[in-house]
Amino acid sequence: MVQSRAFAKAGTHVGRHRQHRTVEAVFVPVSRLSFRQKQRAPKPFVPRASDGIATYFGESKLADRHSAATEASSAETTHVHGDRDTINATYNIVFVTAEVAPWSKTGGLGDVCGSLPPALAARGHRVMVVAPRYAEYDVTPVDQGPKKSIACHGTEIGFYLHQSKGVDWVFVDHPSYPRPGGIYADQYGVYGDNQYRYTLLCLAALEAPLQLEVNGSVYGDDCVFIANDWHAAMVPVYLAAKYRPGGVYQDARAILAIHNLRHQGVFAPKTFVEYGLPAGWNGAVEWQYPPHQRQGAYEEEGRAVNTLKGGISTADRIVTVSPGYAWEIQTPEGGWGMESMLTSRAYALNGVLNGIDTQEWNPSTDKHIVKNYSISNFSRGKAENKAALQKELSLPERPEVPLIGFIGRLDYQKGADLVLGAVPWLLEQDVQLVCLGTGDVSLESGMRWMENTYPDRARGWVGFNVPMSHKITAAADLLLMPSRFEPCGLNQLYAMAYGTAPVAHATGGLRDTVLPFNPWEGTGTGWTFTPCTVEAFISILGNALETFREHSDSFRALQQRGMQIDFTWDKAASEYETIFGWAKMDAPYCK
Ligand code: ADP
Repeated sequence: MVQSRAFAKAGTHVGRHRQHRTVEAVFVPVSRLSFRQKQRAPKPFVPRASDGIATYFGESKLADRHSAATEASSAETTHVHGDRDTINATYNIVFVTAEVAPWSKTGGLGDVCGSLPPALAARGHRVMVVAPRYAEYDVTPVDQGPKKSIACHGTEIGFYLHQSKGVDWVFVDHPSYPRPGGIYADQYGVYGDNQYRYTLLCLAALEAPLQLEVNGSVYGDDCVFIANDWHAAMVPVYLAAKYRPGGVYQDARAILAIHNLRHQGVFAPKTFVEYGLPAGWNGAVEWQYPPHQRQGAYEEEGRAVNTLKGGISTADRIVTVSPGYAWEIQTPEGGWGMESMLTSRAYALNGVLNGIDTQEWNPSTDKHIVKNYSISNFSRGKAENKAALQKELSLPERPEVPLIGFIGRLDYQKGADLVLGAVPWLLEQDVQLVCLGTGDVSLESGMRWMENTYPDRARGWVGFNVPMSHKITAAADLLLMPSRFEPCGLNQLYAMAYGTAPVAHATGGLRDTVLPFNPWEGTGTGWTFTPCTVEAFISILGNALETFREHSDSFRALQQRGMQIDFTWDKAASEYETIFGWAKMDAPYCK
């Protein structure tokens, strides 16, 4: 139930937590701060994170490393095993994120930050999520209770609190957040003040645990921050550069969660001042591209400031969203220039596989689909959803024809061009293809071309439509995921939970989660292919279609195996707990 909460008056001291240190306050001489190191209970021994994912430096071709990576990512030592019986500490956890579903979402980052915090709260932790308030959010009762305003980064920000699912959702109010376009960009391109907007978010998130009373007490400065992607990557830098030197957040730790390494928050070197860092901290964010990567670089000699690099070098630990991606980002092919930085921090890097929100994505309760179903009646349930989708999209209502789906951003990463490249081969057959996505204008045009060329077989829905994504997932027999790289990927997890077989490029989290079908052993939950070419994609699609058409019993068994997998967030949450324990065992980063 949503609780309306009035924030207690500024200055009230509640409980054992210290109160009210603003950014300004941390520059008070340390001697004047009566900081008392809190006594901490002795910690149980927890084994160190393994370096298994970091130790393979073999051939230079990513494809050649697949078998090694698969071995590495499945090896016992590369996984983080959480167990509440051995790790009984509870933590004050503060997520810092640019997106949080259902309020703001452009992709998996929003989903993760909407689902992992409740899973951690359910395990007994006190959890806050700090995100920008991009809109009024008037569809939810989020704005009940007065806003609390504070000075931050030379401006005034407000905090709005909403409580649900055991989590304190804190929305940072500032005029720079609401925009008529998207979260990060509009039709004219990426917003020019994103560096400022997310610097402000980081500083606001560092003030919230100190200043915001929630249920009668502040979180205080013994927190574990989870800084998500480049937007939040300055959190560990500020902890080290601005707060700890003033005696604040001595017990806090910061974990950088990398959802997509491609986006790093790179800006011109002269914008260093925007971060408001003390002198001598340029090195934390300065970045020089090697000559072959200097295309479009900001300054002569490829100089820039790189926000994510600041996080990578100062975070107490680094987590990424699958074990396979944790390995890939340490290679030149998957590292987007950060591979050496990440390799140097390999001892602190782990992959934790994302889960899925089983309240939102559950075929037995899904409110967007016409017929709910479970593993016991999935054939009938899927057939009804298929018929309904065919009807809604004016496709011939034929149960026997394989219905193939694609959902995702239309861009280089997601391989939508590979789908279009396979279309002439695919749609000459008796199949139906439904694509949902938005992004690159030429790929959007490609989807329209596909629909116009094959009006009885294809639909290309250009747009972001959550109900339609659920309908496609429930109705389709196969879901295409030819992503060139995929840190984790959620659609293949949703697909398997809905009895829909993924056909995916064997990369990152896709390789970790889609077990290739083996007809002789009767194992596997989908089909994977490599290398990432149209030819290889077509070849594996041929296998999948043949299994659907000629071996329906095998296909049904494969669907069932997918539906039985446990992708709940609780597993990921327990692994995060283990990592919190490791972070707390080490001293925090300091220069
Ligand atoms: P990424 O974060 O790289 O975009 P993920 O697979 O991790 O990819 O997450 C994508 C999320 O966004 C999924 O929940 C997916 O269903 C959703 N999504 C992507 N495109 C669309 C769309 N056009 N309409 C509705 N949902 C979409």
